[in-house]
Formats: sequence, structure tokens, C-alpha cells
Amino acid sequence: GEPVVDTEKCIGCLKCVKVCPAQALEMFFTPEEQKILEQLAAAGSAPIAEEEDPEAAAIARMQAQYRGVWVFIEQTDGEAAKVSWELLGKGKELAAKLGVELCAVVIGHKVEPLCHEAFKYGAEKAYLLDAPLYGDYRTQSYLEAMCHLIEQHKPEVILMGATGMGRDLAGAVATRVGTGLTADCTGLDIDDKRNLMQTRPAFGGNIMATIMCDKYRPQMSTVRPHVMQMPEPLPEATGQIIRDAFTTPEDQVLAKVLEIIRDGDSKHKVDIGGAEFIISGGRGMMGPENFAMLEELAKELNGVVGASRSAVDAGWMPHDRQVGQTGKTVRPKIYIACGISGAIQHLVGMQDADLIIAINRDKDAPIFEVAHYGIVGDLFQIVPVLTRKIRELKTRGK
Ligand code: FAD
Repeated sequence: GEPVVDTEKCIGCLKCVKVCPAQALEMFFTPEEQKILEQLAAAGSAPIAEEEDPEAAAIARMQAQYRGVWVFIEQTDGEAAKVSWELLGKGKELAAKLGVELCAVVIGHKVEPLCHEAFKYGAEKAYLLDAPLYGDYRTQSYLEAMCHLIEQHKPEVILMGATGMGRDLAGAVATRVGTGLTADCTGLDIDDKRNLMQTRPAFGGNIMATIMCDKYRPQMSTVRPHVMQMPEPLPEATGQIIRDAFTTPEDQVLAKVLEIIRDGDSKHKVDIGGAEFIISGGRGMMGPENFAMLEELAKELNGVVGASRSAVDAGWMPHDRQVGQTGKTVRPKIYIACGISGAIQHLVGMQDADLIIAINRDKDAPIFEVAHYGIVGDLFQIVPVLTRKIRELKTRGK
């Protein structure tokens, strides 16, 4: 509805205009008032609207203490998750815009080599917490470690992978330090007030929202694997390691790791996230048995088979093959979409592929808007021909 201003109480400070989230308020002055304001401004006295807001000043003072971009280097048994290097690539850009250092946070046991690896991917500094306590990831010990480092060094931006570990830790840290966290960002940038602009799909992927955390520090984001580009490592790069002996007494850490059971038969597990060639099938595949056709094509291309959510929901493919907003984000060299319409929730997961080929019998299917090559026709005829032709080319090449 219309905003109602109590003219008896209004002193014309304009605060309401500034804070209205919908920017629905404007202030007008009568000609007489306008004249007085102009006289005041001409006399060099600040107009009422410019009066210093004590709250804004306190925020600015607090924010000035926070400097630097941090990337949490996720590791398991001393091996880093690739998303950490991708984030260093993005972090480097952000740090350059802010004119600050890019720092890696390495927590674990016997993990110093990861600091040197982080320097190769762009970090200038690495905070290292190395102790048996950190051998296995546990929320509490890592949370205490992160909060200790934040309190000591006050970073303005912290990035983590949107992995199981990253999602767990980022949420816990943001809650403890009382700041904002934007999950699953697809874009990160800096505005002219040093705020991190965190872009992510919202409302079921129908809009892209840019989220800011302009009152609190640090600003925290998680980013899914393969969303940011992997930077080229610089083999000669070095940096400064800052060791910190902080630990929480083991008897105060409530969770104990008794045994680690690795996920199933990892040989048969397919990582569509890291694949260079992906052939995905959607509802147009008509049934689970027809995916064998895609497997054959995938075999010829040394690729893997992915799926749309419709195909996964129908039980034709397991969930770890799902591409899209609630599935995986992929960046293959070639993505072939077979019988997939191209809903926005699917597109957000694959539109950064180097080359997209779509096969669909509906020439108006939205998938053709992102495809570099489109084949309008029946996939049951086209896919076997493609497989045969590739096979022929390969045997001829031998
Ligand atoms: P359809 O849209 O039914 O398309 C099937 C296509 O196959 C049609 O274009 C048709 O022309 C074509 N076709 C049929 N037969 C043939 C044939 N013989 N030859 C050639 N072409 C043929 N979807 C995802 O994929 N991933 C996600 O992560 C995801 N997350 C979601 C999250 C939310 C919150 C919501 C609301 C939705 C999400 N979806 C996701 C679902 C998404 O909106 C679509 O419903 C889904 O992607 C459609 O799958 P599809 O393209 O396989 O099926």
C-alpha cells in the first residue's frame, strides 16, 4: 500500500528514504523549504540529509578492520578438493579488485605441502593449522580453528567449496561469527563499496539474485565444484606460511571418528562433474533400457552418461548422474543432450560446456538456444548413426 508519513513527527532527515527496501519513498520540499536548504548548502553547512548517521559510521569503522580474501583449502588425507583451486582462481580476481592479499587456509594433519600447492594456484599467504586433532574433519574442531583465525586476522571475504564439508563448515562458522552466508554462488564480484556481490539462482532458478552482506564481516560464500574456472598453476610461485598452533583439547571435541567407510565400489562410481565428454538423456529416452544406447556412444568418446531430473525422478538413472540445479554442475569439453527440453534448472548445470550438441525432435525446444549444434529429429535414429560414424572414423584413423 501507500506509505503513510506522519507529518507531525517527520523531521525530514531522509533516513526512511535510504532504508526503504523497495525504494518507494521520495521526499519533496515546498519552494520555501527548498530555498532554505539551498541557502544552507551555499553557506557551506551540510544539508540535513548529509548528517552523519552514527550507525553507518560504526559499520564503516568495523568494516575497515577486515581486509583480505581467504579460501578454505578442503582436504581429505592430505589431498585437496579441486574446488579449492578453482576458488583460488576466482579469489585472485576479487583480491586484485579489493587491493588485498589472497590467503589460503589449510587445516589438517601433515598438510604443509598443500600450502605450497596453494601458492601455485595464486595464494600469497597460507594460514596453516597442522595437528593430529585435525586429521579427520570434524565440525567442531574445524569450526573452532576457523573462528580463531577469523578473530586473529579479520578477513573480509571467505570462500569455501559447496561440498559436504564446505557446506557444513561454512554454515557453522557464519552462525558463530554472526555474519551472512550465500550458498551455491555462480558469480562473485566486488562493488564500489568493497561489498561482495554474490550471484546465485533463486526462486527455482527462474531469476538470478545478487546478494550482498553489507553490514557484517566477513562475507561468506560457497561455490559448487566446476562453477569457477580452474586457474593455470604457476610452478615457480611461492608465498608465506603462517603457522598457528591453536587446537581445541581433544576431550572437549564431542564427535569422535571411530571408522571411515568409503563410499561403495568407487571403481564403478562415475564422476560426471569431472568428465570431459558427457552424453545426457532426458524424458525423451522413454525408458531405462534405452540408456544403453547412450552408454555405447559414451564408450566411443571415452565419456560418461548424465541425465536430466525427469530421467532421474523416473528411476532411469541414479541421482549422482543428474545435471542441473539440484544435480551437478558440469563443464565438459562436449555435452550432448538427447531428448532434453532445456529447462532453466537443467541449463544452469551445463551451459558452460565448451561445446553443446542437442538432439531433440521439437525444433522449438529451449535447449537449442544454448546449443552450438542442434539436430532436430528422432534421437532413436540419430544416436546409433552418430555412434557408428565415430566408430568408423576411429577404425579408419588406426
Ligand atoms: P522434458 O521437459 O519432458 O523434455 C523431453 C524432451 O525430449 C522434449 O523436448 C521432447 O521434444 C524430447 N523428445 C521426446 N522424444 C524424443 C525423441 N524420440 N527424439 C528426440 N527428442 C525427443 N531438471 C534437471 O534436469 N536438473 C535439475 O537439477 C533440476 N532441478 C530442478 C529444481 C527445481 C527446484 C525445479 C522446480 C525443477 C528442477 N528440474 C531440474 C526440472 C526441470 O524443470 C525440468 O522439468 C526437467 O529438466 C525436464 O527434463 P527433460 O528435459 O528430460 O524432460
